[in-house]
Amino acid sequence: MADQHDSKTVANPGRACPACARTLAPWRHDWLFRCQGCGLLHADFAVEIPDVAGGDLVDETRREAGLEAVRDRNNARLLDTLKTLARPGARLLDVGAGPGFLLQHAAGLGFSVEGIEPDANVIAAARARGVPVRHGYFPDALDDADRFDVIVFNDVFEHIPDITTAFAACARHLNPGGVLCLNCPNRDGFFFKVAEVLDRLGLGGAYDRLWQRGLPSPHLWYFAPRDLARAAATVGLTAERRLDLDTVQIKGLWSRIRCVRDEPLLRSMAAYGFAVATYPVARLAPADAVASFFRKPG
Ligand SMILES: [Zn+2]
Repeated sequence: MADQHDSKTVANPGRACPACARTLAPWRHDWLFRCQGCGLLHADFAVEIPDVAGGDLVDETRREAGLEAVRDRNNARLLDTLKTLARPGARLLDVGAGPGFLLQHAAGLGFSVEGIEPDANVIAAARARGVPVRHGYFPDALDDADRFDVIVFNDVFEHIPDITTAFAACARHLNPGGVLCLNCPNRDGFFFKVAEVLDRLGLGGAYDRLWQRGLPSPHLWYFAPRDLARAAATVGLTAERRLDLDTVQIKGLWSRIRCVRDEPLLRSMAAYGFAVATYPVARLAPADAVASFFRKPG
């Protein structure tokens, strides 16, 4: 799979939908595709994850600071759920481990942890946290015989060009009875739906931002939990639980919005104002991030 991820490759559009096998057809933008069967969304963006350290489109320090509050809370909730689904001391793999926050937290809860991370810029940070992280892509960075009790993709799965291959590799690398956890943005979510309406009205800024269009590792897919359940079923994984997660917390929001260096200030202010104004409503609407948990038959 590594050659599909190398710098500046483009995901292949026009394929069968990985969830329902119908056609992914062009839809509304020259980079966007929508499944004619289930509505799953796919973007045909180039992926440019830095293989070597350097590059500065995204201010990682600012982004990390801004994401901290939401991230810590969501990681705790993910791991609480995984503790109830996996045996004590379970071997946990975090794919796209980033700076190792989830792994460090999981290790503290008694999981035996390991990570994979393609971005050379954050590997050192993970290793400094004392968690083992291999440099590379899933599943190529693994040995064929590697087996795990838990595999986690925490805001990662939607960045992978070939998710059919990724699902098959998950099924292969899980022990019998093992658990796959996919925390992904939700295309039924409140902010995504609002951004879709704005985009139809010609105000594409929020929609582009939710897709992370123009960033080094944009979203290539926008799933609903039912899409993931359907795709997981094709490799024999059974949907077991779902967990709604927060995507917005007012604390840290400004840093998050401002982490893209060339973002116009007025647009940032509009996004911040909208998020704050709609915060009470958004909390009651479908969540913009949902973690889905799947089980490999034991
Ligand atoms: Zn489909």
